[in-house]
Amino acid sequence: MLAWVLSPPFKKQMIKEGRCEQESNLFGTVFPPLTMVEIASILKQKFNVKVIDTMASEINIEQLKIKFKSDKPNCVFVNTTTPTFKNDLNSVNCLSKISEKTIFYIYGIHAKYFSNKIKTNKNTILLNSMPYKKAYELIGLKNQNLNNFPVPSWDLVDLKQYKIPIKNKPFLLIRTSIGCPYSCTFCTAPYYYGKNYEQKTAKNILKEIKNGLDLGVNEFLFYSEVFTLKKKIVMELCNTLIEKNIKINWMCNSRVDTIDFELLNTMKKSGCWLISYGIESSSQKELDMCSKLIKISQTKKSIILTKKSGIMSIGHFVIGLPGSNKSSILSTIKYSNKLGLDFAYFYLATPFPGSELYEKLKLKQLDYSKINYKSNLINENLDLESLQKFAYKYFYFNTNTINSIYKLVKISGINAIPLLVNQGLNMLKQF
Ligand code: SF4
Repeated sequence: MLAWVLSPPFKKQMIKEGRCEQESNLFGTVFPPLTMVEIASILKQKFNVKVIDTMASEINIEQLKIKFKSDKPNCVFVNTTTPTFKNDLNSVNCLSKISEKTIFYIYGIHAKYFSNKIKTNKNTILLNSMPYKKAYELIGLKNQNLNNFPVPSWDLVDLKQYKIPIKNKPFLLIRTSIGCPYSCTFCTAPYYYGKNYEQKTAKNILKEIKNGLDLGVNEFLFYSEVFTLKKKIVMELCNTLIEKNIKINWMCNSRVDTIDFELLNTMKKSGCWLISYGIESSSQKELDMCSKLIKISQTKKSIILTKKSGIMSIGHFVIGLPGSNKSSILSTIKYSNKLGLDFAYFYLATPFPGSELYEKLKLKQLDYSKINYKSNLINENLDLESLQKFAYKYFYFNTNTINSIYKLVKISGINAIPLLVNQGLNMLKQF
């Protein structure tokens, strides 16, 4: 019996990992396909499995059809996102004509949201839950909790295809938890993963680090909605890395209200070099309106502490949140620059199906392929696209950037300079 786990071809390279559904444009990378190899590791207990990630290998639909014709797999798990959904369904329809016995399970937030709203042919199923449940069902087991998942089958993909752009080194994702107890209105995480925060033990995370090291990778992104939510586990993980002298470099995401200096200091000593924070806005009113449950004073304090610990930081901002206007957006842009962050992303507020923002706006005839954080879909009175371009220029073209480049070169070595120049030029082309 043969199973495929597939990310169908698309006109652009995309990040397609749960709530992260966006073009891989700014720093030019696609994520190693974590959920795809997790599904593969479950299915492997009963199937031969192939993982085909066209986001990285750039196979076109004609080449895919040829492979499919020769394999005729029994089932295919298809990774979809909101902007790629129409295209992914077209690819599935093309393939299903070649082998009518193949069952296609399409998974992702868009599939879940529209599972009982879109009609598909009888062999194409939109999964109304995360894909693990169906994978376990196919091998005759009931759904397992995160700590019983097998180690992801990274051996089924070519790891050389996935590199951290500013370092040009292969990296892996390690899922350290599933779920988010918060309810930020622009985010799909609570809808997709649920509000229950299921934490992987430090022992199991270490097992996956070891697997990565065995595959020759020592750069990791700890993939979690809020990696630092359970301080005790993070401390245990970091202290073990330090005590056992396990040399890795790692990144994570966090919330500014879940860190303190003791934690940051230990994280730094264990190899953490970069933290992503969802900062969103400089306006307390906007933060409150989107249920962020964060105070501006916490943000300032935590970025200072992060800097003091020697860890670099990325801030994520949302332009055009409900309650915003041109002046509050400009204040957020100026604020992004004053905080002492090393990098920043500026997203346009985007109504992804599954988010509260989508439910509130109830937009009619939304073109889902335009859901890309760069199209203004919610506020016709403001030129959000121009404000977004201005934000990038304002943040990156100033003397702070020279400081961040200096820190990066210290971390990555002199070889990072041509890569940084290249990425700077890419950025210039876009904005
Ligand atoms: S904290 Fe908010 S933005 Fe972050 S994953 Fe949870 S709901 Fe989403």
